[in-house]
Amino acid sequence: MSSDTSSVGSNASNEDEFLSLSQTMLFSRLLSVLKRDIVLPQPINIPTDQAPAVLPPTISTFIAAAIGISEAHVSSFWTIMRDDIWALPPQALTQEDKELFRKHGWKYGLSRRTRASMVMYPPSDFCTNPKCGRCKPLKKVHAVQIIVYTLASGVVPAWEVQLYCLDCNTTYYPNYSAQHGTHTYHDGDIPQYISIGAHQYTERQLIASWISYMLITSVSATNCSRAYDMGTQNPNAVFGSGTG
Ligand SMILES: [Zn+2]
Repeated sequence: MSSDTSSVGSNASNEDEFLSLSQTMLFSRLLSVLKRDIVLPQPINIPTDQAPAVLPPTISTFIAAAIGISEAHVSSFWTIMRDDIWALPPQALTQEDKELFRKHGWKYGLSRRTRASMVMYPPSDFCTNPKCGRCKPLKKVHAVQIIVYTLASGVVPAWEVQLYCLDCNTTYYPNYSAQHGTHTYHDGDIPQYISIGAHQYTERQLIASWISYMLITSVSATNCSRAYDMGTQNPNAVFGSGTG
């Protein structure tokens, strides 16, 4: 039980538990960026424009560990605060918040873009196949661990969320959909992270830098790859170990 100044109280068990102001704000920030993770596992009849009454178990476990309260109290505080949190736009996370995702959320597939991890979703929760009549959100979810090559942070572990339409047998990935062996890239701008093979993505800016090297200095793609490995895995090898 928190002993400092309380802003939100609950009586989920026989003893009251309170969230301090900082815990209340943390509770709101973390859950405000997890709405999609909260909505996806809900039953098909639960509307997505309202906060569901119950948090998915993995979300509840993550929040309890991140804030340091029991899951029973997570449930109680969610009941009190869910409508306000649902009305919030995704809040900016601090470095400490992102560290909480890394420490307590990664094993549940919960992650936010950091130097250490990220999660990538298909752009829509709905089937976009024009020949498919499904209007309900996609609920069959599969998450796989992938790696992402980034310009600033090197090789970053990530989760790739895949959605499956049971009506037309289309699987939706972050960059494209696949049906009967045919891949169709999503409409819109070139995505920030581009699939380059099974379980691997590359940041768009990194590909642009490789193309520039190849066009301007005639460096081969192989040597671009070697330079990237050298710079991200052992930066000292690039700059040398001497003090100059
Ligand atoms: Zn479909």
